[in-house]
Amino acid sequence: MLGEVRGTVRFKEPLSFYTALRTGGNADIFVVPQDLDDVRHTLAFAYRQQLPLMVLGGGTKMLVKDGGIRAVVVKLEGRLARADFHGEEAMVGGGMGLATLVRHAAAQELGGIEPLVGIPATVGGAVMTNAGTADGWIGDYLSASYFPYPDGSFGEYKPPSTPMAERGLEMWASTRSAR
Ligand SMILES: Cc1cc2nc3c(=O)[nH]c(=O)nc-3n(C[C@H](O)[C@H](O)[C@H](O)COP(=O)(O)OP(=O)(O)OC[C@H]3O[C@@H](n4cnc5c(N)ncnc54)[C@H](O)[C@@H]3O)c2cc1C
Repeated sequence: MLGEVRGTVRFKEPLSFYTALRTGGNADIFVVPQDLDDVRHTLAFAYRQQLPLMVLGGGTKMLVKDGGIRAVVVKLEGRLARADFHGEEAMVGGGMGLATLVRHAAAQELGGIEPLVGIPATVGGAVMTNAGTADGWIGDYLSASYFPYPDGSFGEYKPPSTPMAERGLEMWASTRSAR
């Protein structure tokens, strides 16, 4: 439950602080989880209270209405915005900026995702919108995506071999219909 969250919990938080256009009203409840346990507590809280939960990335593809959002809004930072490299692959937190990921990969002498460097996005936001340019889409580099359920278990999403433009939509549909 929310009292168990060790990260930041705020009420009536102005989302204009977090959207690229600097517009939008308040989130009823705004959580910056410290780690995955915090994410689980937040999900369980929203599930039990029957409140919608939405994740905010860099807020570059988000228009929040002036009246705000009646929901639990989650912003991933800190441990949930890091990359752990394993050979040529990386396990990346959804809150990490795409440009930061490209820089970290280059520091590991890994390349390939440079076409994404100029897109203002977090990795989570980029995956959800299948961000990209004519030179490459994030779906081209994604082997799997993992997301938590309110009961603490994790789901896995593997992009199917369908046309790139449809991938973001498929993931959206699959996460929305899950449990
Ligand atoms: C100046 C400018 C240039 C741009 N250039 C490009 C471009 O070249 N190519 C391109 O494809 N797009 C571009 N965009 C659009 C935008 O940058 C992308 O769509 C980007 O992927 C959005 O990422 P974000 O982190 O800002 O997501 P947000 O805007 O915060 O969120 C977008 C959606 O993803 C969801 N979401 C975010 N993070 C998560 C998460 N961790 N888990 C689950 N859901 C999540 C949100 O709930 C929301 O539905 C541009 C935007 C701007 C303002």
